[in-house]
Amino acid sequence: MKVYEKAPAKINLSLDVLYKREDGYHEVEMVMTMVDLADRLEMSELPRDTIIISSQAGYIPLDEKNLAFQAARLIKDRYDVKQGVYIHLDKKIPVAAGLAGGSSDAAAALRGLNRLWKLNISTEELETLGAELGSDVPFCVTGGTAIARGRGEKLERIGNPPQCWVVLAKPPINVSTADVYGRFNANKQERRTSTAQVREAIELGDFQRLCRSMGNMLEDVTVDAYPEVRQLKDCMRRLGADGVMMSGSGPTVFGLVSKESKVSRIYNGLRGFCKDVHVVRMLT
Ligand code: ATP
Repeated sequence: MKVYEKAPAKINLSLDVLYKREDGYHEVEMVMTMVDLADRLEMSELPRDTIIISSQAGYIPLDEKNLAFQAARLIKDRYDVKQGVYIHLDKKIPVAAGLAGGSSDAAAALRGLNRLWKLNISTEELETLGAELGSDVPFCVTGGTAIARGRGEKLERIGNPPQCWVVLAKPPINVSTADVYGRFNANKQERRTSTAQVREAIELGDFQRLCRSMGNMLEDVTVDAYPEVRQLKDCMRRLGADGVMMSGSGPTVFGLVSKESKVSRIYNGLRGFCKDVHVVRMLT
């Protein structure tokens, strides 16, 4: 038997880092939503007690470091599953980009294996399992739009943002999330939170207000280390995107665009600057 799952990318509409906790994690508050740029997972039963991962993407680990592998191992251990699984990952989400590609693959593996092995695990339980794999995995289990708190695993579902086009552009650099948080600690400048304002804009269905409210406290840190992120933001703004921000710890920059007529101009303008550009919709 075989099952398929889509693993969409997430973007942050806000990212507030509140403080560093005793356990070393940062307490965050952020609005996350999903876009229709997705990896696709094909999961096939294996009679042997083994987990095999393959992918056309040559640049991700295929062993126990792969988050989909870790999801399969966790479910097998916790539910005493004797069968094995072969997981093929068709990667479309740029890697180490701030789009939670690995976390979404892990969440899709949890959902898919629940079906493949007929385990009847509840969504809440899948989210709890997901938190063991990574802070963004619980959100990716159900997607939609949510405010995430704690280290990202405490979710409050909210309504979807007003529909618009999302242009994603990733400069050709890989950014480590741990490294960005490390630099954030050293940089003590005053920062403003944006989650409450973003939530309000979403509740009002006010697109322009949403664009004005967005904020990401990690942005300055990544921009200081990688000036190409600022250049990309400036370029997207010049080309006419309504709201522009970096997602997660970066380096992907996204632009929200309300008018379809502007989208191709922005896409073509960015392609002169960086190769990894995608035009997508929010998943609402
Ligand atoms: P986040 O926004 O959650 O910090 P990210 O989008 O910045 O994540 P990922 O694409 O999830 O980053 O990749 C981060 C690292 O995780 C990569 O360097 C890669 O080696 C590893 N990794 C493990 N499993 C996967 C996977 N299934 N897909 C992509 N990367 C994976």
